[in-house]
Amino acid sequence: MASPFSTLDSLSLERAANRTIRHARVDLSHRPFIVIWEVTRACDLACLHCRATSMATADPAELSTADGLELIDQIAAFGSPPPLFVLTGGDPLKRRDLVELVRHAASRGLPTALSPSATPLLTTQALAELKDAGLVAISLSLDGSSAPIHDSFRGREQTFARTLEAWERAHEIGLKVQVNTTVTRRNLRDLAAIARLVLEHRAMTWSVFFLVQTGRGSGLEQILPTECEDVLNFLYDVGAIFPVKTTEAHHFKRVAMQRAIIEQTGSAADRAFEPGETYRYLRREFGPIVPTGRRRRPPLDINAARGFVFVSHTGEVYPSGFLPLSAGNVRTTELPSLYRTSAIFTALRETRLLEGRCGACEFAPVCGGSRSRAFAQTGDLLAEDALCGYEPGSFPYQAELAALLVPMLKDRGHSGDERDPATAV
Ligand code: SF4
Repeated sequence: MASPFSTLDSLSLERAANRTIRHARVDLSHRPFIVIWEVTRACDLACLHCRATSMATADPAELSTADGLELIDQIAAFGSPPPLFVLTGGDPLKRRDLVELVRHAASRGLPTALSPSATPLLTTQALAELKDAGLVAISLSLDGSSAPIHDSFRGREQTFARTLEAWERAHEIGLKVQVNTTVTRRNLRDLAAIARLVLEHRAMTWSVFFLVQTGRGSGLEQILPTECEDVLNFLYDVGAIFPVKTTEAHHFKRVAMQRAIIEQTGSAADRAFEPGETYRYLRREFGPIVPTGRRRRPPLDINAARGFVFVSHTGEVYPSGFLPLSAGNVRTTELPSLYRTSAIFTALRETRLLEGRCGACEFAPVCGGSRSRAFAQTGDLLAEDALCGYEPGSFPYQAELAALLVPMLKDRGHSGDERDPATAV
């Protein structure tokens, strides 16, 4: 069969590629697309899957206000276009200097977002002050479609109600809201109901995180690779009606490319997509999906150290918040230098160093698997991602895939501005 892409000219092919996977149109070896700073580990919640293993009071060793202002200057030094800047925790609202930090970031031209915890500190007044200081967006965690499911994750009653309340208040004062959901076995079959809430309450983006068994999340049960495949295909479907992104499931990009090719090739491609029981259940529970035109937001081709950098509460610089291998500390070395030249960051940007199935995979240049999960499960930063069940070379439409990959890889390293608060938090 002739490739469905073979009749497209190079410009049309490039457009088709960009509709499938989005590029951060900056040189990702030179500057990140997004910088996340864990401003504190203090938090009044006790979430079952907390990466930060949060505590009630702040660590005396956390970065001071002066350190934080200096860090923001270092982030601004990456140049234009500036990275997205996200303040996370713990609960950032536990810091008294939060408004000052946000104001300074905005004054340095950084598009700034916040990941607060849904506690009594998350008031309309606090959000309004932060917005006045220059905050663009917030992200709120939603791990269940009802109070019993969500609150049992979060370790405190009333968290579900506070989340919905803050969601509405944030909209009223003009802040964009992203919703974050962590997928574990506990909420796997609740995902369709959560997706309906995301749609009904008009979230800017649904950010779906796939558990890495680290921190307090070490004790939670991971879903199977086949279930993950079903969830990613469900996310691809709902991505036709609202923006969806994944964290620590980079193979969403593989699924998006496979589905795009399958859609192009028509019914003859059925053998390339065999949905499982979890997919059928989620689709049935969600109900009809009527695409509204172009896909709302294709996945973005960034990964740990390739467009992404995480700064801990004490200033350690990690490729991801779930990959606790430090490249150095911003108290002693400037962040741009650590991002551009440290051994960990440069090695992670070389997909040819990957091992196992990820090393052999034709999708590795745009995917690469979760380095955090590989490290958490095997101690090897470059091992295959066990949550992906793909066998390299098994996708039957390799010619079509190659046609899509070529313009994507050619595009790498071009300059431009893709800043978008929809990926900010
Ligand atoms: S095998 Fe690795 S690189 Fe290939 S799709 Fe899966 S996670 Fe991505």
